[in-house]
Amino acid sequence: MKKIIAVDGPAGAGKSTVSKILAAKLGYTYIDTGAMYRAVGWKFLQSGKSFDEKILQEIVSAIDIQLDASAKVLVDGEDVTKKIRTPEVSKLASDVSKFGFVRKKLTDLQRKMAAQGKVIMDGRDIGTQVLPNADLKIFLTASLEERSRRRFEELKAKGAEVELEKIRQEIFLRDKQDSEREIAPLKQAEDAIFLDSTNLSIEEVAEKILELANGK
Ligand code: C5P
Repeated sequence: MKKIIAVDGPAGAGKSTVSKILAAKLGYTYIDTGAMYRAVGWKFLQSGKSFDEKILQEIVSAIDIQLDASAKVLVDGEDVTKKIRTPEVSKLASDVSKFGFVRKKLTDLQRKMAAQGKVIMDGRDIGTQVLPNADLKIFLTASLEERSRRRFEELKAKGAEVELEKIRQEIFLRDKQDSEREIAPLKQAEDAIFLDSTNLSIEEVAEKILELANGK
């Protein structure tokens, strides 16, 4: 049985949904690293300041981020689970994630969280940087159209007023920024298994990864 599973891929590929299902089936801990970058972006937004690297440095050195067992995200004790899911915070998460000092702090934290094993961690650089020795690495993707449609449906179901084309544009730009940054860009690890979920249901994707995790 694989003890450490890394799931990377672009925005909206279904990484977190699938990872949560797998964690429940395997009795593993799910670690959402995107939520941690979102937490930093959200904290910056709270400062009300316009973007400044020095202020970001101060925020990052003081921030306390906790992910609890029920996937709640706490920033300095405040429950921000829902607040970090807005398009504004998505963009800010991507903006702050290009800084080396942000990545260092969160990567160290992520490695500590994975140290006990039996974890599924999802993000952009898990297989390439955070956990290069993971037992199983998946690169999960889907077409831009499909990823945009899924995100659109998800937000609509939550009652948000959203436009498909706007979401498509946001996802496209965020992936581009994440793929082109200098430090730890979004990239498939050489030893990762590529999975295109465009024509697969979440259950089918989970089943495939489960087979791989069980070494079948
Ligand atoms: O996965 P999610 O969409 O919540 O991630 C938000 C942003 O956080 C990404 O667009 C990316 O810029 C950043 N991120 C990252 N490295 C990770 C996870 C997320 O740079 N391992």
